Amino acid sequence: MKCFYDTEFHDDGNTIDLISIAIVAEDGREYYAVNADADWARIAEHQWLMWNVVPQLPPMQDWKPKVQIRDEVAAFLLHDGHPELWADYAAYDHVALAQLFGTMLHFPTGIPMYTNDLRSLLRWYGIEALPSQKSGLHDALEDARHLRASFEYVMQLAGRIRVVMGSPEISVEKLADSRLFVVPDPDHDIQKAKARALDEAADVLRARIREIDQERTGSWARNDLVIVEKVIRSRAEATRREA
Ligand SMILES: [Mg+2]
Repeated sequence: MKCFYDTEFHDDGNTIDLISIAIVAEDGREYYAVNADADWARIAEHQWLMWNVVPQLPPMQDWKPKVQIRDEVAAFLLHDGHPELWADYAAYDHVALAQLFGTMLHFPTGIPMYTNDLRSLLRWYGIEALPSQKSGLHDALEDARHLRASFEYVMQLAGRIRVVMGSPEISVEKLADSRLFVVPDPDHDIQKAKARALDEAADVLRARIREIDQERTGSWARNDLVIVEKVIRSRAEATRREA
């Protein structure tokens, strides 16, 4: 079960002190808690947290001891025994989550010792923009809900990319080998060659879109082709930047 989570925390460069955690599961379940055991005196001295995070917290009587959050989070994540963790800019969230249980070695059995990062997914697909979050930025629950929505948006786009790549409307074998998944390579010439290959693939798509427009017959695939062309162009740009 995919579990999309977000934490707010106090980071001073040495410690990560959990303020709040929210989890939105694929099946619609939601969890949210504020850590009563955080170092609130230090948080009170942190201007950014006081402006951006603390005003959105529920009343103090609803906060919970860290051990209670630990047990509730474990039960929530292990609901079906197979959680898959997702977060946005996941590194700090993963540590905040892990430290609920102690050290990395204290992670309960069944909870993965890593968190998938939405950022990696965006990079792989060459997607640069996400739907913007309407409200509640830095409210862990609103952030987790937005994360889930963003993940679904990316998957939808990825699905359309796959459909178009496999479409009989495009008889271009060059596209078939999924050049979208270009990984960074220390060899700059190879990176440049990859960028050129991506450009060529995008040019082929552009030509097909022009043909469709000239035929004036319309095509179910036109809008998808435009999206895929954009994705491939941005992938080529990113590859060129790495070269
Ligand atoms: Mg957040």
